[in-house]
Amino acid sequence: MARYQGLGVDIKVLLEKLKSSMEKQGYKIERVLTGETSFLIEYKKGGMLAAKETLSVKGVPDDFVVSGVREDNQEAWFIIEDAILASAKNPQAFKSHTEQIPAPPTPPQPAAPVMPPQTAPPPPAPKPAQPLPTNCSRCGAPITVTQEDLIFTCRYCGFTMTVASREELKAHSMLENRLLSQQAVDAARKYMDKGIFRVGVSKDAQIIDVKLRYVPFWVCQATTNTFLKGVAGTGVMGEIHQAQEAVSDKRSSGLAKFGKLILAGAKAYAETQQKDKSPRHVSYSFSNTYIWPTLARRTMISEINYYDVPAARKIPFDVGKVPQDAEFLNIELNEEEAKAKIRTEIEAKERLIASGKVDTLETCSVNVTLGEAELVHAPVWFVHYTLKGENYVIAVDGCEGKVLGGGRPLFSIG
Ligand SMILES: [Zn+2]
Repeated sequence: MARYQGLGVDIKVLLEKLKSSMEKQGYKIERVLTGETSFLIEYKKGGMLAAKETLSVKGVPDDFVVSGVREDNQEAWFIIEDAILASAKNPQAFKSHTEQIPAPPTPPQPAAPVMPPQTAPPPPAPKPAQPLPTNCSRCGAPITVTQEDLIFTCRYCGFTMTVASREELKAHSMLENRLLSQQAVDAARKYMDKGIFRVGVSKDAQIIDVKLRYVPFWVCQATTNTFLKGVAGTGVMGEIHQAQEAVSDKRSSGLAKFGKLILAGAKAYAETQQKDKSPRHVSYSFSNTYIWPTLARRTMISEINYYDVPAARKIPFDVGKVPQDAEFLNIELNEEEAKAKIRTEIEAKERLIASGKVDTLETCSVNVTLGEAELVHAPVWFVHYTLKGENYVIAVDGCEGKVLGGGRPLFSIG
């Protein structure tokens, strides 16, 4: 039995909604009895031999009771509570029967026989490892949480909770998808024809799958103060640094030999110039502000090279704005882990900026202050295609239509 208060549910509306969703779920309704403030449904699920069951609802819009449904019949409870929510004028007041507190037992009568004095109850035994939740703690829908999920979002009601504490996560935003799958394919095809590929490649590419996924990011505002000491003044050293960076960059490893030649040439040139210019020791400090996103997953998604969260388009998370057929990725990285990762990434970026300000960087200290991290689910289209027998994927941002990267062989996203 469960009691629902303050919802403003018209019992007749509830009956109609309940009947139609039960029928949709394969229940056979045998009989319906209605009263002024109540109704009763006799139903069956399964073949001829299935047992007949009864559920009844009785009360007024702001206080009614559902009874007759077995506590372990999760599916029936889910359908009922879904119909209640759908007919409620005040759905915020909704509490699932799973979170309703049973009424306290009636206090003992003063006239009761004298009881022996009670000893203090033993301390509670240490809690065993908590099993993973199987139902949403807001709407009661059946959910599938895996060991990797640290934060889980219910696909039915949008409730987002930290799995370990079962507490609601309030700072949860999203970006809306604005792209049709064809637009994602068009953006991917354009990308195939330029940059790392050659013109005309897209003609031979066969699109095999186009999938929208909501990918979670932790986003954090950061301010930095960086102090550096170094040697400046020769000017040409800067070019050597740039050449060195280009050579040490993994992506240009194919050019390493060529790069060494450039480097040698730049050094030789610098030595001839150095005679006229005297290097001087300098110190600088500078500060920056960033909105820094990092993927909230354990494994890299290699198709996403860089993601810039369009902060102006962020809206509070609304599960109704996630298309039914989109895949939804949960969070495998907690806020603390994400912040540590963001800190490291920002420090590296600041060092890079610092080294660009002098010819030789001697010391550099970076101080990063991070704000609260916020969770943002962003729509990303994954365009899968084959070319000459090889599989590739290109990722396209669903909010602004930018290509995020890809083109390399598929990894497993799961
Ligand atoms: Zn839910």
